Amino acid sequence: MPDVLIVGSYITDLTARTAALPKPGETVIGTDFQTGPGGKGGNQAAAAARLGSEVVFVTKIGRDAFGEQAKHHFMKEGIADTYIIETEEAPTGTALIAVDDKGENMIVVTPGACGHLSAGEVEQAEKVFEEAPVLLLQLETGMGAVEKAAELAFRKGAEIILNPAPYRELPDRLLQKVTYLTPNETEAEEMTGVAVTDKDSAEKAAAILLSRGVSTVIITLGRKGCFVMNNYEKFTVSGEPVKAVDTTGAGDAFNGALAHFISTGMELHEACLLANRAAAVSVTRTGTAPAMARLEELKRL
Ligand code: ADP
Repeated sequence: MPDVLIVGSYITDLTARTAALPKPGETVIGTDFQTGPGGKGGNQAAAAARLGSEVVFVTKIGRDAFGEQAKHHFMKEGIADTYIIETEEAPTGTALIAVDDKGENMIVVTPGACGHLSAGEVEQAEKVFEEAPVLLLQLETGMGAVEKAAELAFRKGAEIILNPAPYRELPDRLLQKVTYLTPNETEAEEMTGVAVTDKDSAEKAAAILLSRGVSTVIITLGRKGCFVMNNYEKFTVSGEPVKAVDTTGAGDAFNGALAHFISTGMELHEACLLANRAAAVSVTRTGTAPAMARLEELKRL
């Protein structure tokens, strides 16, 4: 039985380091070229699977070399690929990433196949919607797929976690189906117009989002942890004091872990505490999916 159903993006990260980022028209020599699995959906799937969830991932990849790598990655991480759709019509999504000596980066994301995931393709996984207690969504695929997934899960009474990243305008009919909305500070500001800088402003932003129909708002606050609010309770979970080396994908680590712990029936405060801890472990390592925490590591922290 699946614990967590994830509908979202899979993207191959192609990363090179350069002394300085290229200017328009310039070619620079790079070093340390790496390819790795990425995309918010893929990262969150790895985060939940590493903690022990049976994860079913619905995404779309191309019939190409990066698609083959993706399938190998899903197998290695124990992510069920029954509903991974392969297409000839678009390449696997890619992110071309250049990072300079100061850590500044330039990124071109081409969503490719996963950008074409349609509502009809999501519907093909209807059986999983009947079984999975938790659906986890982000916003890197088309809105048709996101809304269809939310509609199917809502109808079955599953809990829906929506990580509203990257930001885009969302209709209230979608927000009203969301059990847990998990923006970071920037997304919370984009959605509400309230600059989130401390507990008071987080509360103000959360109140606006609750008024749009979301059941619980969880604003992630980077190294400061997260702020949680619904109509019955509000609390802050402090950040874990770790030495961060790479915070890319921290939000994905948090969301995947939250989905895992919520699916076990854990109470909200405890689930946020452990998601916070899992995300803290992930920032102590480089990379996104490969940096996700395993259950034993949470006990050690
Ligand atoms: P995003 O990656 O989406 O911008 P955040 O920066 O808010 O999201 O980080 C998500 C979560 O990752 C935080 O709520 C926290 O649990 C953890 N986290 C992020 N940065 C750090 C850090 N420097 N130290 C400890 N935990 C961190």
